Order: sequence, then structure tokens, then C-alpha cells
Amino acid sequence: MLRACTICKILTDKKKCPVCKNEDLTEEWSGIIGCINPKKSKIAQNMKIEIPGLYAQHCISYD
Ligand SMILES: [Zn+2]
Repeated sequence: MLRACTICKILTDKKKCPVCKNEDLTEEWSGIIGCINPKKSKIAQNMKIEIPGLYAQHCISYD
């Protein structure tokens, strides 16, 4: 089960975000954006993605 980081929205199966080390991950997310080259992708720039990976389009944080 992949979970989305509530800060940077990267999808991970770990307990902690591999990008920003945030431990607040959510299972309530939808849409997947695969980003291979963030510097060349407009979507990545809009979402402020800097590291290649899989990201959730939307995620819900409960706090
Ligand atoms: Zn993160």
C-alpha cells in the first residue's frame, strides 16, 4: 500500500517520506504523477517537485 507524503506528495511504501523525512503520510490520496525529469516538466514545476519519483495528485491530511 503506497502512502503519500502530506508535504511533498511523493508516494512511498516506507513509514517516512524519503524526500523531506516527514512522518505524516496519508492513505487518502488520488491520481498518480510520474516524474522523471522535474526540471523539464511543467506539472512538476507547478507542484514544486524537484526529485524524480511517483507523486499523488491530491492527498488529504487529517491534522
Ligand atoms: Zn515529503
